[in-house]
Amino acid sequence: MSERDDVVLDLLERARFYGSLTSLGVSWPPAGALEDAGATADALSADASGEAGLKAIRDDMGDCRRCKLAAGRKRIVFGQGNPRAELMFVGEAPGADEDEQGLAFVGRAGQLLTDIIEKGLRMKRADVFIANVIKCRPPQNRNPEPEEILACQPFLEAQIRAIRPRVLVGLGKFGAQWLLKTAEPITRLRGRLGEWEGITVMPTYHPAYLLRNSAGKKDVWEDMKVVLRLLGRPAAG
Ligand code: URA
Repeated sequence: MSERDDVVLDLLERARFYGSLTSLGVSWPPAGALEDAGATADALSADASGEAGLKAIRDDMGDCRRCKLAAGRKRIVFGQGNPRAELMFVGEAPGADEDEQGLAFVGRAGQLLTDIIEKGLRMKRADVFIANVIKCRPPQNRNPEPEEILACQPFLEAQIRAIRPRVLVGLGKFGAQWLLKTAEPITRLRGRLGEWEGITVMPTYHPAYLLRNSAGKKDVWEDMKVVLRLLGRPAAG
């Protein structure tokens, strides 16, 4: 396949991704998104990076009512970790534990993610940054809807720009597809490096999937070894 074919296929795939987000009658851009994105950009223009940048984004989010998830959530789960992390994880959405505590990945899947970070990567959880595609818990943990993803999109984009990690890990279908702007299934994406605004992206399985399918753990370990290499860190054993 020529380079031109690759570019055309990439464009088609991106079109399919945005098509999948808008096919349910979602208006584009969603109501208020442009003003929100503008406000976020303004908030970021003074000191766009690190802790101050993240604080400006969180302030801009306020008591967010930009999508219908606001009605059922207890807490906004902004994400947490090192504001200048070299490594950032992007998951799907808060679950019940996260909604209760206002922190990302603190339930069973979160415990497994902690093991991946601390036992696998030999990094401290506090040294990475962990966030989700959407910041509020969907009812009964259903999948995020296109409108919700689009309403939250400016905030995750701004978070990544503020942190500017060296490597992004997309966890599961939603994290990986969002970062890579593609509708390809996670089984096909997993382990294949991509990029988001020049930052290397490693798509891998979601820890919640690994809780049900432990056979996938060895694939995730292969992916994490690549992440370690990208960060210039030695892999253990
Ligand atoms: N699953 C996610 O994708 N994110 C969380 O924060 C918790 C579980």
